[in-house]
Parts: sequence; C-alpha cells; structure tokens
Amino acid sequence: MKPIDFVDLKSQYAALRDTIGARMQAVLDHGQYIMGPEVGELESRLAELTGARHCITVASGTEALLISLMALDIQPGDEVITTPFSFIATAEVIVLCGARPVFVDIEADTCNIDAGAIEAKIGPRTRAIMPVALYGQPADMDEINAVAARHGLPVIEDAAQSFGARYRDRWSGNLSTVGCTSFFPSKPLGCYGDGGAILTSDDNLAQAMREIRVHGQSRRYVHTRVGVGGRMDTLQCAVVLGKLERFEWEIGQRIDVAARYDELLADMPADATILANRPDRTNVRAQYTVSVPQRDKVQAALKSAGVPTAVHYPVPMHRQPAYGNLCCPECCPVSDAMAARVMSLPMSADLDTATQERVVNALMSALRTL
Ligand SMILES: *Cc1c(COP(=O)(O)O)cnc(C)c1O
Repeated sequence: MKPIDFVDLKSQYAALRDTIGARMQAVLDHGQYIMGPEVGELESRLAELTGARHCITVASGTEALLISLMALDIQPGDEVITTPFSFIATAEVIVLCGARPVFVDIEADTCNIDAGAIEAKIGPRTRAIMPVALYGQPADMDEINAVAARHGLPVIEDAAQSFGARYRDRWSGNLSTVGCTSFFPSKPLGCYGDGGAILTSDDNLAQAMREIRVHGQSRRYVHTRVGVGGRMDTLQCAVVLGKLERFEWEIGQRIDVAARYDELLADMPADATILANRPDRTNVRAQYTVSVPQRDKVQAALKSAGVPTAVHYPVPMHRQPAYGNLCCPECCPVSDAMAARVMSLPMSADLDTATQERVVNALMSALRTL
C-alpha cells in the first residue's frame, strides 16, 4: 500500500507543474527577484478575490502579524487580547512589540477564541484584539468586531490557516481592520518557501505597512519610521499565482473531504468527537482535527497502521516557558483540556476516498481497543 502523506503537496505539484514552472521561469528570465511584477500582480489578485482595498505581501505569516502590530503602533506596556490556543507566532509578535498578550480562553467545540469572554478582559491598556481562525474556520468575527467597536479597538484576524474560508459570505482575512495570512507550504494557499500577506481597507495603515515592510522607508534611503526586512520575494509570489489556478477547486475539495470525515467519524467510540463547524461560515481545514482520549496511545496505534497524525497544539501559550508568566496558570482551562485531546488527521485537496477510509478505519479500531 502506498504511504499516506499528512499533507500531500506532490499531487498538487503534479497537477500544476506546467503552470508553476512557467511562472517561475518567467521570473528567472526577467530577473527582478525582489519586488518584480509578480509581487504587484499577486497583491492585486488577492485584493480582488477578498474584496479588501489593499494587499501587502510580506516575508511570512509571522511578519504579516508583526508588521500589522507595528503599523497599529502597538507599544511597550500595551495589551493585546488573543487566544492561547494557536501557533506561537500569534503571541510572539505581541511580545516582540514589547506589549503583553492577554489570553482569552477558547470554545471547546471549535477551539476558537470565546468571543463572549473578550469584553471582560478589556482594560485601560488594551490596544487591539487578535482572534485566530483556527484550523481554517473563522472565529465569531461580527461579535468580536462589535466588542472592539464599543471600545474603539482595531481587530487583527490571524487568518494564516483560513485563506479561502468565507464568513457570512465574506472572505476570511477581510473581516476586520486587518487580516494576516501565511503562504507556508502546508497552508491552504502555500508557496514553496516562506511568504505571507496582509489585507486591509484602511489607506493609512496600508501605507504604513508598505513602508515598514522595507525598513520604514518612505523614499529611497529616507526612513521615516522603524521597519523590518519583510518583503516576499518575486519567485514565491509567482508560485502562489500558479497555485491560484485551481485554488477554488482545492477549497471545494477540502470542504468535501472534511464533510466525508465528519460523516464517517460522527459516531466514534470512547468519547472521541469531531469538532464543530458553524453554519454561517466555511472551514478550509488547514488541519482536520478531532478530539480523542489517551491521545498518545491513539497516535501510536495510527502510526503503526501507517497513518501519520500531528498535534496542533500540544502546549497552549500560557503554559509555554517563555510566555507562562503572562497569565495565571489556571486562566484557560478549556485550552488546557483541548491541548491534551486534539489530534489532526491527513488532509489535502487530493486525498482520495480509499485513503481516507484507511485513515478512518485505523482510527476507529485504535479507539475500540483503548
Ligand atoms: C502558520 C501560522 C502562522 C505563521 O505563519 P508563518 O508563515 O509560518 O510565519 C501564524 N499564525 C498561525 C495561526 C499559523 O498557523
């Protein structure tokens, strides 16, 4: 039997080989490796797709978040409200600005930030709210935007896992003041290295972000603010442009594959459950994640059946050595509980039914023997 890939980038490349190859060759031929024409082309395409007025491509998803906070002038002593249940970059960029992440616990059924618990954490130092669209499903963005509006705060959506998802018919990334995404290869829309993008309809913020991306430069060698070296290179933009060719199809596939998992796993033994999908939004499934008891045993059983799994994420941020002093250890009990239970299964647009059934059968028999 052929080995199962956790993320199958090979089938995607096989399908797009000519398109991506031609796109990359064009860059090698014109030789504008930095800020070449593909950079602007990708920015226009993504702005048009999402409906945001501006798209600023950057070196990574992490850089997108950092540049956004810098453009919003987040300073030492400020507080930014976020979830502890995410990839570490979400909290890392807040600390890099000298600010303090204030963690709000998650909903157990989606693992997204509990929007109803945000307002109680807003204080005199709060400067922004940063929800994450975890696993590819947007958080309760309208509720979050409403809380933010009551307190005059900007909202930065970490949409690194959710590019392509729709929330009440709007695109994730264009649901709030600023949206940030990542083109890390395994994300729903990836490149072949590092890359990311910021989406916003605020003209002043967009201008600041464009300057911060190139060392705070407003004109050549005139540095009006402190910035970073944060550009996305032309070759990586060319790869994303190539991948956009079948992106809508891939999103549809990911949703269908997930729906098949949901159906096959609706009735798992041993208190294992699928996660919830809210009816007013789509989930592009950067990860297909389930909640299981005795996760180490389940993972080991799947591994011996040839099924790769991963954990997103085993240690919530308020428990991380470098971040643990930011919050009381008991601040986020739901995150603690879910961190012990979540397990992600193979997920790709090209995952075929037979392979998916192998995964499901292996999981079911692992759970039955617990
Ligand atoms: C991947 C990811 C990031 C960081 O993106 P990079 O491109 O790897 O820097 C940030 N936040 C979340 C939720 C992510 O999944």
